[in-house]
Amino acid sequence: MSTSTHPGLPDAAPAGESALPAGTYDGKTVFVTGGGTGLGKAIATEFARLGAAIVVASRKPEHLRAAREAMTEVSAKVATVVCDIRDPESVATAFDAAAEAFGLPDVLVNNAAANFPVPAEDMSPKAWRTVVDITLNGTYFVAREFGRRHMTAGTPGSIINVGASYAWTGGPGFAHSAAAKAGVKNMVETLAVEWGPYGIQVNGLVPGLFPHDDMTDDIKSNLARTHEKDACQPALRVGRPRELGWAATFLASPYARFISGHTLVVDGANWQRRTLTNPPVTTIRDQMGKPPFTG
Ligand code: NAP
Repeated sequence: MSTSTHPGLPDAAPAGESALPAGTYDGKTVFVTGGGTGLGKAIATEFARLGAAIVVASRKPEHLRAAREAMTEVSAKVATVVCDIRDPESVATAFDAAAEAFGLPDVLVNNAAANFPVPAEDMSPKAWRTVVDITLNGTYFVAREFGRRHMTAGTPGSIINVGASYAWTGGPGFAHSAAAKAGVKNMVETLAVEWGPYGIQVNGLVPGLFPHDDMTDDIKSNLARTHEKDACQPALRVGRPRELGWAATFLASPYARFISGHTLVVDGANWQRRTLTNPPVTTIRDQMGKPPFTG
């Protein structure tokens, strides 16, 4: 809740509503990586409400169980498959499982990613590699598998790569993830041109600040340092996960077929924010309460 006396942007429409006609995704299948938690689950839920069968791919059984429960709650057909997107063979196996359950998925939501805040000077090579491997390489491997299967089948498809606004601005405290997301955004633009002739639409979708219960402890503790989550946003509120789901369902819908190579930012203008007066600079170490770097 913001303490500002200004109203900010109006709140989201109620949960359970949709801007698209009921049944927009009847007979369609949507493959969501990382769809058992947080924003991936919220996106999967909105596709499911519009009639889609959902395939969720990620590593942890408890997340896949959560995905099945969430999709069952909205009476959707659901299949889950263990998959590590860093491994192209695991990705191919996941698409085989999806095809067996419902046929080749029509829509891919490339949502899975990894992230944690760390000053760049403290970051280990292993941490850098892990985040880049999941967020950039994994996103490409899943897109590649989806694209190749559609080209072979001669069928159209739609890809949504979930990004982050520090792809444009840089992300102090998130050097690994920001660099990887910049690659993801760039990949949207390249693949949209390469694969448009085959009927494959490729877009990006960037969430702003969307707190949710499934956030990792690292991200939650970072958020805990942001004392006023609503007040620090131009909208004077954070995003509701369903708002991201609505944007995703639009981007892959029949009403957005001529939109490709675009990255849609859903963040209440937070990434455009600049201040008239320049507040003093605080180092990432200080913001994270870390002692001085000693090597
Ligand atoms: P989250 O809850 O931490 O979800 C990440 C998901 O990715 C998990 O379901 C995880 O499942 C899956 N995953 C991680 N590594 C994987 C791997 N190697 N193979 C397959 N799946 C993997 O994060 P979120 O907040 O919902 O974020 C979703 C997307 O939005 C991400 O792309 C994130 O960068 C972006 N984003 C979020 C925010 C926000 O405010 N929440 C802001 C900007 C951007 P398993 O552990 O089961 O593998």
